[in-house]
Order: sequence, then C-alpha cells, then structure tokens
Amino acid sequence: MRIAVPAETSAHETRVAATPETVKKFIALGCQCVVQQGAGESADFADAAYVEAGATLAASFAEVCLDADLLLKVSPLSRDELGSVASGTVVASLFAPYSNPLLASYAEAGLTCFCLEMIPRISRAQNMDVLSSQANIAGYKSVLLALEHYKSFMPMLMTAAGTVQPAKVLVMGAGVAGLQAIATARRLGALVEAFDVRAAAKEQVHSLGAKFVEVPVDADGEDAGGYAKEMSDAYKQKQAELIAKHATAADIVITTALIPGRPAPVLITEETVSKMKAGSVIVDMAAEAGGNCPLTEKDAVWIKDGVTLVGISNIAALMATDASQLFARNVLNFISPMLSAEQDGLSINMDDEVIAASLICRAGEFLKPQLLGNRE
Ligand code: NAD
Repeated sequence: MRIAVPAETSAHETRVAATPETVKKFIALGCQCVVQQGAGESADFADAAYVEAGATLAASFAEVCLDADLLLKVSPLSRDELGSVASGTVVASLFAPYSNPLLASYAEAGLTCFCLEMIPRISRAQNMDVLSSQANIAGYKSVLLALEHYKSFMPMLMTAAGTVQPAKVLVMGAGVAGLQAIATARRLGALVEAFDVRAAAKEQVHSLGAKFVEVPVDADGEDAGGYAKEMSDAYKQKQAELIAKHATAADIVITTALIPGRPAPVLITEETVSKMKAGSVIVDMAAEAGGNCPLTEKDAVWIKDGVTLVGISNIAALMATDASQLFARNVLNFISPMLSAEQDGLSINMDDEVIAASLICRAGEFLKPQLLGNRE
C-alpha cells in the first residue's frame, strides 16, 4: 500500500496531512510512504525528518502521485492536481462538500474519496474528527488574532498609574471553536459572555466561567445530529435585539456561528457595527461561509467606523505545526482500521457508519447526490 503525501498548493494552506510521526506509524503498519519535497516545510517538518521516519521523497506533485494507492491531503484537490491523480486512487482529504464545484469531477476521474468533514460526530470517531481538532485550534487563535488588533489589556490590572478595566469579550456560537475561544479569553482575564441557539451550550459556557446570554423563546436550536438548525423569525428578531445590546458593550466579538450546508447566519448587522465602540474588534470565524457580519471581507482585515473586522478564513492554518499534528493523527486514526495485514489496499466496509458517511465517491460512482443538489 503506497501512501502519497503532497505539498499543499492552495492559498493560505500551510498544513500537511501526514507528519513524520504518522508516517512512521503507517510504515509500521506495512505501508510505504512517499512525501513531496517541502510538504511539511511551512508546518516546520523537514524533509529529513520524513526520511528518518522511513519515507522516500518525490520532487513534484505528479511524482508523488505516481503509483499511489492512497493520497492524503488537507485542502480539496484542485483542477490542476486532479489531472495528475490516476483513476482508482483513494483520496482522504477535506473536500468542502457544501461549496466545492469540483465534487462531481472527482467521481468522473475514477477516484474513491473520503470526505473528512463528513465523519460522523459519534464517540468512536472522536479521534478522527478533523472538524473538532481544527476548530479547537482556530478558536484559540481567534482570541490571539483579536488581541493583535485590540489596543488595550485583556485582564484587569491594578497599576500605580491607575486601574485598567478587563476587556469584555462576546462569543457567538459556543461549539468547539467558540468554547475554546471562551476558555482562552477567560485564561487571559477577560469578562466573557456567549450566545448559542443550542440550549445544551449553556452549561458548557457556564463551566468555563462565562455568562450565557439567553434568548427568551421556547424552541431549542439543536437538530438530531447535534448541529444548529435554522431558527424562526421570532427567535431571530429577539436574538438580534439582544446581540445589538451586548455587542455594543463588548470590546472584542468573536463569531463562530455556522449551520452545516447553509450560509452563515447574520448575527452582527451593519447598524450594530456602527454603534460599537471605536477600537473594538470583530473576528468573524464564519468568513468562509459568508460571515456572521455582512461587513466581513474574507481573508482581509479592515476597519469600519473604528471597528476592526478580521475575516481570516483558514485560522487553523496560522498554527500550522499543531494543526498538522492533530489533523495527521485524525487521518491516521481514520485510515488505520481500514488497513489489513492480509490484503493490500484498504478494506472499505460500507456497514461501518463512519465509512458510509464519509465516502462521497467510490471508483467513479458519486455516492452522495444530495451534496450536488445543494449547489447554488
Ligand atoms: P458549528 O461549527 O457547526 O457551529 C458553531 C456553533 O454556532 C454551534 O455551537 C452552533 O450551535 C452555533 N450557532 C449556529 N447558528 C447560530 C445562531 N444563529 N446564533 C448563535 N449560535 C449559532 O458547530 P461545531 O463546533 O462543529 O459543533 C456542532 C455540534 O457538534 C455541537 O453540539 C458540538 O458539541 C457537537 N460535537 C460533537 C462531537 C462528538 O460527539 N464527537 C464532536 C464535536 C462537536
């Protein structure tokens, strides 16, 4: 079984899908690993470390893919890359399944694709959950990004020159990223408040020492899969009023609200931004899905009415080393149960719910037509 690890080429991507640690483990499981030269460079994994782990090096994307049985990637294959991947290759990668215009092309190219975003959030698959591992990193880094643009202290300080008040941080969306943002801001001494449509988030927010801002309506916003669902107009109206009140009092707002497969809900309106304090900062972690604030510009930082709007979309890639370490371990945990001593290649058991949920195409057949139907 030959595993290929290419260098990522998409903009803002610094991560790598296998590290020397996971390469070593794949080799111990009987695989061969070929790594493209420089694949780990931006995450600080040197070619020599991969070689020491037992990998061989390839000079180009085309070369690393040559005779590969399994390609491990972070970002979805681009059209150019697709031309170098032979029919029959298995690819495990992020595929941006709700927005990627090339999704059908992967099946047409005869690939078998595991979409890592679609691994179900069940206990058994927690160690394979790339969404969680990367959201955790992004949540942490979002607070540091906010601080880069915020011109005051986070904690309360008593100094000889007088008292400095603690920063007020408002986090919208208390999922994996939001909870980590809350914890990080609390560690830095901020006063933190948080919103979420899911009632279950309240206890988690409280356990981190933050205040939960509750929208007073009956309906819970959690669907059967644990994700948020689209809320009623009555809820949105009440939520908008509360958000406007709390955002205008905040120094830093971190928004993480996402609904899978849909544009991100608008939580901070242009009017709310115009009423926020000069010097305050919004980090919009939903920038990739259109943003929780309509003023967010994807992959840009700009200032509107004295408020800095940070729209960096791939925040986890700003911490490339740990993001790659965790991503690569998730991939190893996902792939290794499919390796068997008796047979070369992967054993793909469709009775396994983790495999059935994440396999989007198999040997040319597209298995999730609902994803193609969602295209705008
Ligand atoms: P996500 O990235 O899809 O969304 C981020 C947060 O935004 C969620 O908490 C969501 O409820 C919230 N949100 C959506 N619309 C909102 C709105 N209008 N206003 C305020 N908040 C809004 O979420 P996620 O971090 O991927 O987590 C989704 C769920 O999956 C959570 O229940 C989480 O606990 C659960 N989860 C389970 C596992 C597991 O069991 N293995 C692992 C990770 C996450």
